[in-house]
Amino acid sequence: MNLDKFKITDINKFNFKAFDPDAQTLSMDKQAVLENGKINIKKMKLLQDRFYAEGKESVLIVLQAMDAAGKDGAIKHVMAGVNPQGVEVSNFKKPTDIENAHDYLWRCVKALPPKGKIGIFNRSYYEDVLVNRVHSLYKNQNLPDRCKTDDIFEKRYNQIKNFEEYLWENGTRIIKFFFCISKDEQKKRFMKRIADKNKNWKLSDSDVAERKYWDDYMEAYELAINSTATQYAPWYVIPSNKKWFARYLVSEAIIKILEDINPKYPKVGKEKEKMILKCKDILKNEK
Ligand code: ATP
Ligand code: MG
Repeated sequence: MNLDKFKITDINKFNFKAFDPDAQTLSMDKQAVLENGKINIKKMKLLQDRFYAEGKESVLIVLQAMDAAGKDGAIKHVMAGVNPQGVEVSNFKKPTDIENAHDYLWRCVKALPPKGKIGIFNRSYYEDVLVNRVHSLYKNQNLPDRCKTDDIFEKRYNQIKNFEEYLWENGTRIIKFFFCISKDEQKKRFMKRIADKNKNWKLSDSDVAERKYWDDYMEAYELAINSTATQYAPWYVIPSNKKWFARYLVSEAIIKILEDINPKYPKVGKEKEKMILKCKDILKNEK
C-alpha cells in the first residue's frame, strides 16, 4: 500500500475538493485488507515491545474527525494488540473552566507521552483552530482584546507548527490523522446509532446540529492541514467512508513510524552481565 498518497508533509498541498472519502476502497479486496490488518496488529505488538524497552523516543498520534468518522473504533481496533502499559489515550472535549483559565495548549502538554510510550490524542489542540474557528468561540472567551484579533488563527497555526517542531526536536514523533467521511456517510452512521438501541448512547443532539456547519468545518480542516503539515509532523488524510480501510491505513502509518524509529532492546553492560550470572548462580543453588 502506497501510504504516501495520503500523506501531507508540506504547506498548501491538501485540496479538499479533490479528495474522495471513498478513494481506493472500491477497488480493494476487503478480506485481503482485513487479513493484512491482522498481520499489522502482530507487527505492531513486536515493534512496541522494543520501543517501550528502549525508551528513547515518544510517539504522539493526533486523531481529528467529524463525529462518527471512526476515531474511537480505530483506537480500539488498531491498538488491539499493543501492551496497554505503553499507551496513553487522552480525550479532549469542550474545555472545563480550569482548562479555559489556561492557554489552549496547556491541557495537551500535560497529556504528552513520555519516552517509550505512544500517546493518542482523541481530538487535540487542533480543536482550537477548528470548532473555535467555525463558531468564532474566541470572541466570547476570557482573553485580552489584543489576543482577539482577526489573525488569531494564523497565529495559532504558527504556534502549533512551532510547538510540534519543538516536540520533534526533543524526541517526540508526531503523526496526525484526519478521518475524512462524506456528509452522507455521517448521516447513515447517525441513523444506525438511532436504529440500534445499544448505540443510542453515542448520539447527541449537538452532533446532528453541527451538520449545518459541515462546509465551514471542511474549510477549517483544509486551512489547518495546509498550515501545519510538515516533514516532522505530517498529516494523513484518511478516506474513511469504509472503516476497514481507514483502520488499515492508520495501522500502516503507525507501523511505518515505529519501523523508522527502529527501536532496539537495551544491551546490558559488563557490570550487569556479571550481576546476571551471579543471579543465575544463586537461583541454581537455591535449596
Ligand atoms: P464521541 O462523540 O464519539 O463520543 P467525541 O470526541 O466527539 O467522541 P464528545 O463528547 O462529543 O466526544 O466531545 C467532543 C466535543 O468537544 C466536540 O464537539 C468538540 O468540537 C468539542 N471540543 C473539543 N475541544 C474543544 C475546544 N477546545 N473548544 C470547544 N469545543 C471543543
Ligand atoms: Mg461527539
